[in-house]
Amino acid sequence: MGYVEISERLRLPVAAEADVVVAGGGPGGLGAALFSARAGARTILLERYGVPGGMASIGEVTPFMCSYRDGAVLDGPVYGEWRRAMESYLAPEVCERRRKDPDGLAARGISKEAAALAAEDLLLEAGVRILYHHPVTGVVMDGRNIAAARCHGRGGEVAVKGRCFVDCTGDGELAALAGCRYTVGNDRGECQPMTLCFKLSHVETGWCGNSDDRKIFALRTRLNAAYAAAVERGDIRCPRENVLLFSFELEDDNVVHFNTTRVIRYSPVDGLAFSEAEIEGRRQLRDIYRWLRREIPEFRNCRLMSMGVQIGVRESRHIEGIRRITAEDFRRCARFEDAVARCSYSMDIHSPNGAGTVLEAISPGNFYEIPYGCLVPADCDNLTVGGRPISADAAVHSSFRIMPTAVSIGQAAGLAAAIAAQKNISPREIDGRDLRRVLIDMGALLK
Ligand SMILES: Cc1cc2nc3c(=O)[nH]c(=O)nc-3n(C[C@H](O)[C@H](O)[C@H](O)COP(=O)(O)OP(=O)(O)OC[C@H]3O[C@@H](n4cnc5c(N)ncnc54)[C@H](O)[C@@H]3O)c2cc1C
Repeated sequence: MGYVEISERLRLPVAAEADVVVAGGGPGGLGAALFSARAGARTILLERYGVPGGMASIGEVTPFMCSYRDGAVLDGPVYGEWRRAMESYLAPEVCERRRKDPDGLAARGISKEAAALAAEDLLLEAGVRILYHHPVTGVVMDGRNIAAARCHGRGGEVAVKGRCFVDCTGDGELAALAGCRYTVGNDRGECQPMTLCFKLSHVETGWCGNSDDRKIFALRTRLNAAYAAAVERGDIRCPRENVLLFSFELEDDNVVHFNTTRVIRYSPVDGLAFSEAEIEGRRQLRDIYRWLRREIPEFRNCRLMSMGVQIGVRESRHIEGIRRITAEDFRRCARFEDAVARCSYSMDIHSPNGAGTVLEAISPGNFYEIPYGCLVPADCDNLTVGGRPISADAAVHSSFRIMPTAVSIGQAAGLAAAIAAQKNISPREIDGRDLRRVLIDMGALLK
């Protein structure tokens, strides 16, 4: 397609400046911005959309896939605070039901509106300056340091300056723009599929709320058989092997959430392919919605209630760090002196090429740890990475990418950036063991 020459010297207005600038307001960004601000750093959060929450809000993803040790949650404190803050936006009777089994699947269901409102409450309370509608589009470098993030403001490009930056864009956008090395997907460059999530209301069932396992099992069995037949006939063109649905009765009774579309072989880091992926995700949604109304009695009168603002991206860049975590660390339940997060969730690889999902559970009652160096890019001196794009292989990434762990990783990335900015050092000069001690003092569950 060629190039367009830009030859003029650019002078950008500085829209804002802080000690720490966090790019991306998803689960990782929430943890990062809160821990940076709570550590006393002036903190800015740059978010490309008008709400925080990342996949929990813009991606319509639910529920929180939690990781535990002996029944105790491994992620805190921000994960717990976020969930509690969400409850103030749920009906009292819903909260009451959730309290009966606080860590059960139904209690971890997410309303995307509640997720966004609660995240914003926490950020404002902590004094984080939020800049919505400020997508990061470039960087101004000073050697190996980022001097400013270039963002699209409403009237053109602006600069946001910081002493230290945190990449919580999910896709490692800021690190890539800063010239950091990365890999995309697995060894063959294949990423897990993208999924456009959506919700249907007015579903005529008595099985919603995931309250009666037998009824849900019976419905799933029938639904999956009908789905397989519809795929076989060509009525539904979707490579996923079955129907993945949840119902938590959060917004209304008889609402069902679908995590069923499967968009494969579109690169999430190529703008044109990513745009095509949105169209393909919605094409699959249409197939599935029409099929349900046409063929499944419980869905005869269902209505399309909502869908993700964007297609959900499970996997994209893995930023090269000064350390790297792998599937072997998962399998040996690795422990590190400088661990900044823990996870026991399974490796959960949705096929990048078609049907199938491979799950590998961690040894019972155990967990693995993520060392600090995975959050420190090898190629930039005033940047940390929070959330899912940390330095890791594709297999173990499929485990720690869950939202609670992304929040915990974000906490560590934000705290490290705050310490680096306050001490005028690079994050790589921070001893991860000291960082871990401060994380514990601030409530992280790493003892
Ligand atoms: C379809 C799907 C289903 C999933 N199911 C589950 C599940 O059931 N349970 C679970 O716990 N996890 C699930 N996950 C995983 C989980 O949602 C993500 O891994 C997690 O949200 C990652 O958090 P993050 O903060 O790193 O990234 P994200 O949640 O992606 O947040 C990134 C944020 O950065 C912003 N951003 C991106 N680029 C820029 C930019 N250039 N400038 C400014 N802002 C930017 C985005 O708008 C977004 O708000 C699922 C993921 C997908 C895609």
